[in-house]
Amino acid sequence: MKTRKEALEHIADSEFDVCVIGGGASGAGCGLDAQLRGLKTVVIEAGDFAAGSSTASTKMVHGGVRYLQEAVNDLDINQYHLVEHALRERLTMLRNAPHLTRTVEFLVPCFSNFEKVYYGLGMKMYDWIAGKSSLLPSRLLTREEALFRMPNLQAENLVGAVAYADGQFDDARYDLALIESFTRAGGEALNYARVTAFTKSHSGKLASATVVDQATPGTFLIRARAFVNATGPFSDVVRQLASPSATPRMHPSKGVHIMLPLDGFPDKDALLVPKTEDGRVIFAIPWNGRLLVGTTDTGYAPGEEMVVKSDEVEYLLRQLNPYLNSPLTSDQVVSGIAGVRPLVAAPGVADTKKLIRDDEVEFDEVSGLISILGGKWTTHRLMGEETIDKVQDYLGGSRAPSSTSEHLLAGALDYKPDYWQTLKTDFAISAPTAQHLAKKYGTEAPVVLELTRSDRSMALPLIDGAAPIRAQVVYALRQEMARTIEDVLARRIGLQLFDWRLAIQAAPAVAALLGRELGWSPEEELRNLQEYVVKVNRMITSAGQRPEPVPPAVRKLTLERS
Ligand SMILES: Cc1cc2nc3c(=O)[nH]c(=O)nc-3n(C[C@H](O)[C@H](O)[C@H](O)COP(=O)(O)OP(=O)(O)OC[C@H]3O[C@@H](n4cnc5c(N)ncnc54)[C@H](O)[C@@H]3O)c2cc1C
Repeated sequence: MKTRKEALEHIADSEFDVCVIGGGASGAGCGLDAQLRGLKTVVIEAGDFAAGSSTASTKMVHGGVRYLQEAVNDLDINQYHLVEHALRERLTMLRNAPHLTRTVEFLVPCFSNFEKVYYGLGMKMYDWIAGKSSLLPSRLLTREEALFRMPNLQAENLVGAVAYADGQFDDARYDLALIESFTRAGGEALNYARVTAFTKSHSGKLASATVVDQATPGTFLIRARAFVNATGPFSDVVRQLASPSATPRMHPSKGVHIMLPLDGFPDKDALLVPKTEDGRVIFAIPWNGRLLVGTTDTGYAPGEEMVVKSDEVEYLLRQLNPYLNSPLTSDQVVSGIAGVRPLVAAPGVADTKKLIRDDEVEFDEVSGLISILGGKWTTHRLMGEETIDKVQDYLGGSRAPSSTSEHLLAGALDYKPDYWQTLKTDFAISAPTAQHLAKKYGTEAPVVLELTRSDRSMALPLIDGAAPIRAQVVYALRQEMARTIEDVLARRIGLQLFDWRLAIQAAPAVAALLGRELGWSPEEELRNLQEYVVKVNRMITSAGQRPEPVPPAVRKLTLERS
């Protein structure tokens, strides 16, 4: 990827075939599809890439067993098609970025023989719909097998479990890999740049977008022949910039996850809690050495702060604990994440839990805006293909076929599960660091590690005992357009989701490296550091815990500057 400054120089006041607004899963998927078809494309993101819903997912690449259940219970063909498409895309998503994905087996605990038959048949149907895209066939486990694989499972009255397979992925890094692959194919991408208005041609069609640069303040224009609105839960805002009278279509809902230590849980198998008090399912999934538990599905109030609240922590633990031998407690929570689902409203459906997670490509005949609404991470590629088909129809001429289904993402080429061992040997690094780098960057990891050849301090851990190293911060800034401490710790490296408190402790080292590269003044470095610590502590206290003390390095800097 270009540096942000270079990208800005190429994008500002330039002309493109396609301007994609939004750099989450949908926007990155559309951008890659368009560029690979030979259309000169730019992706414009208001915040950081993947900072919206696309980093707040359950990190499952799945058809959705709950949607299948609803398809059967409600005889709903739309739900069925969603599951069918998602199961096909699941395999593509896994294949195109093996370093960022894996297959996980989910255990559905059964407390009666009826449940065993019911869930067993349901999962066989899931296998059957997947057909050739199946990952592993589902199977019945005896009580002993279930307890052997998941010793913390509630043993009383357990008769066995049904095991079925789905995919799992690193959502933030997958988004970055899509953006990286898009720019390598010749596309232009810019974060911290918000589209705030459009100008129109004589025929009333969108001709250019006004973009406010939020990082190095300024405004510029982007001219394009077609504009794609991929702004997720907030798509109505851009729809109404194009056509002020457009009727709102989105009905967003909030969902949160919490992270807990993995102690007592296996690293390979996940748990599906089949019944919650509000008639849904939740998951407890091993994720990068932690247990990810989620999600909730509640109303979203516009402007609501996106933090995990203590009652949401209690709700998740209340659903999970009846299925465990040793219950988990709220003080064990090490981090969490909240996000907004980009659901499309349906007439007469007020409950977001009942809204289908399907996507829709909307074409505004008057302005020419093409909006990709709704959808799931799992179907982002297909959504990109459908959207760019529409773009090509709008632009006229012949349709070039989509090639994203066969396009390996950055870091995927020649990747093998034991690739980390090559890194360990070639760069003399610890096994945990080699594994961490292989999973985050795949076969691109040597580019990160090359930074350690000329400066050995770059191989030092960001904080003692943790796998991430300093070189990743410099790489994030030079090659991945990171601008802030949170860009680095939350999305590029993932430490913030691993552990809020560790992220606060790592922040001074990140700020020092960012400050050096970006030319921050000492006052700016301190201000950015203080803001980050306050923000993460707000997440911690909102979840009902005591704040993390300000790190000594921040206290020292504060004293020096006062
Ligand atoms: C709690 C939860 C759990 C989920 N779990 C799963 C799961 O396990 N598997 C799965 O497949 N899916 C899951 N999903 C769904 C999936 O995360 C979303 O469908 C997907 O991330 C949506 O991507 P998006 O690009 O449409 O939206 P976003 O990621 O929100 O991206 C939209 C982007 O547009 C930008 N933007 C907005 N306005 C402007 C503007 N004016 N100018 C420029 N940029 C702008 C925003 O900053 C944002 O980054 C989950 C969602 C949630 C919330």
